[in-house]
Amino acid sequence: MRLFIAVDFPEDVKNALMDYQSQLRSVGATGRFVRRDTLHLTLHFLGETPPSQLAAAKKAAADAASACKPFALTTSAPGSFDKGRGGAVLWLGLERSKALTDLHNCLEGCLEKQGFARDTKTFRPHITMARDANWTSQLPRLDQLSIPAKGITLFESRRDTVTGRYRYIPLHVASFAEDDIRG
Ligand code: ATP
Ligand code: MG
Repeated sequence: MRLFIAVDFPEDVKNALMDYQSQLRSVGATGRFVRRDTLHLTLHFLGETPPSQLAAAKKAAADAASACKPFALTTSAPGSFDKGRGGAVLWLGLERSKALTDLHNCLEGCLEKQGFARDTKTFRPHITMARDANWTSQLPRLDQLSIPAKGITLFESRRDTVTGRYRYIPLHVASFAEDDIRG
């Protein structure tokens, strides 16, 4: 099974990101735009994983979430990865805050403890807007959008045999530790 761990977004944030996709389209950007229900921030891509390791992946996500408090992500400038023959991955960047760096480091440590390999590449937090994307005009910027991060989700990415596209199935939602509020 193909697994990854990500921050899922609330509905109003997805609305704002869909508006941003419209802005990208309006300056002539083309590509396979990410569907509303699949907008997310990937923290760690596990890739093809034997089902026997699923429990360990859930444990790593749960352990990392329980060590973190809710925080806000802030969007930054748009950017892209490898503009190859088909086009690029066009994304909206996220500011590298301490809370986000701590979450990523903590998750990497929890995954390692469960027997998974740490990421070897530098973490570049981004929200993918379109794949196989092409554009010629300058990309519009989005006013800093604040995105509440309340937990992390272990997703399975499964290829739909009918559409050929990947669908994300949440396998485990792990909420961050809430502050202890006492009256
Ligand atoms: P498609 O590959 O058909 O465009 P997708 O990218 O939405 O679909 P996956 O490839 O399963 O689906 O990716 C799931 C998530 O993991 C996405 O956020 C993707 O950007 C990320 N991801 C995929 N492959 C890697 C990789 N090799 N390294 C890091 N992140 C990856
Ligand atoms: Mg992919």
